[in-house]
Amino acid sequence: MHELAPELKKIVAQVDQEITPRLAQIDEQVLYNQAKVLKAFQDQHVAESDLTGSTGYGHNDEGRQKLDAIYAQVFKTEAALVRSQFVSGTHTLAVALAGNLHYGDHLTYLTGEPYDTMQEVIGIAGNQKGSLREAGVSFSYVPLTPSGEVDDVQAEIVLKRDHPKIIVIQRSRGYATRPSFTVAKIQRMITLIKKVSPESLIFIDNCYGEFSECHEPTEYGADFMAGSLIKNAGGGIAKTGGYIVGRKDLVENAAYRLTAAGIGDSEGASLANNHEFYQGFFEAPEVTGNAIKGAIYSAALLQKMGLKVSPTWDEPRTDLIQTIIFNDRQNMIKFTQQIQANSPVDSFVEPIPSKMPGYEDEIIMAAGSFVQGATMEFSADGPLRPPYALYMQGGLTYAHVKLAITQAVQATFFADKE
Ligand SMILES: *Cc1c(COP(=O)(O)O)cnc(C)c1O
Repeated sequence: MHELAPELKKIVAQVDQEITPRLAQIDEQVLYNQAKVLKAFQDQHVAESDLTGSTGYGHNDEGRQKLDAIYAQVFKTEAALVRSQFVSGTHTLAVALAGNLHYGDHLTYLTGEPYDTMQEVIGIAGNQKGSLREAGVSFSYVPLTPSGEVDDVQAEIVLKRDHPKIIVIQRSRGYATRPSFTVAKIQRMITLIKKVSPESLIFIDNCYGEFSECHEPTEYGADFMAGSLIKNAGGGIAKTGGYIVGRKDLVENAAYRLTAAGIGDSEGASLANNHEFYQGFFEAPEVTGNAIKGAIYSAALLQKMGLKVSPTWDEPRTDLIQTIIFNDRQNMIKFTQQIQANSPVDSFVEPIPSKMPGYEDEIIMAAGSFVQGATMEFSADGPLRPPYALYMQGGLTYAHVKLAITQAVQATFFADKE
């Protein structure tokens, strides 16, 4: 740790004072969500024996079944499928969609272009092998308005033209410069869909969203939803996995797709994962709160440095992502390298821009995490294309994010004053 420049010390003190009431609001939200999760654990009678996993086929894995029930209760859905056999968020979303789409069906994204990796799943990027498009599913999306909101007029035109079987709402911004969509905004989108295209199923890409507000999109009429366990829902403890929640028949279809017809959710050894999945979900409200507090601090400090950030420190939040616009390739690289240097793992490694499977542009990534690529842990990444937007997310503890960001700001903006 470098001693802070006196000027920066003063700015940090101002930021601390400014954001205190906002951090207190996050604490209230954590309390609410923690109570919800605790109640689900109690209602489902979680016992010590549920924490040990099954092997082989994984038949009669009571721990796994209760965990499904806990997720269903917390997200207020009929069913849930929480599995270590999901290799990533992308895989989980792909299974949820593919399990419920057949040859000749149409899929529409209401929230503009899909997240980078989902474009390959759909078959509008990459070589299309294994994509929905290859399987005969057609696709369209509703372009967002210039300010990044859902375009109601366009939406009505597209939905009435395409009759989608499934309409996707992507809550988090991903690598886009649009705002993330709060649950209140999603609620309005769902109302619009029910009016214009009532036959369509509504699916939510909830990656990064869990516990970042008091309520989830499934409480307002979404039919099914999915996310990753190495983001919020795993609480920084789960080492792999994903979840799908929603209507019973839709979750079941996804389960047949994940395993095989005739098997569905009845097999899948949980091995040593139950313990981590339970503990991770239990801690997820708090860890999500820590990450959001870290993002609020980061936004406030970088705003003081004169950078454009989104959301601003005092705007409502619905996910973990903090965008920082550098408008400068070198500063973006330097700042990201500093985040890596201030990580608990691989702090000595220097990240450099490079190509990643599933992503079209060069990416720089700071990820000194305990779980590879876990963005529940403090990490930063972004494609090296104008406006040089860095997407920061996660943080197991508020103190770590605060230390790392302050050091990165010092090295990037005060280096010559040390
Ligand atoms: C992270 C993310 C995904 C994909 O998750 P991976 O685990 O990286 O495959 C999909 N959609 C959104 C909005 C995300 O943030």
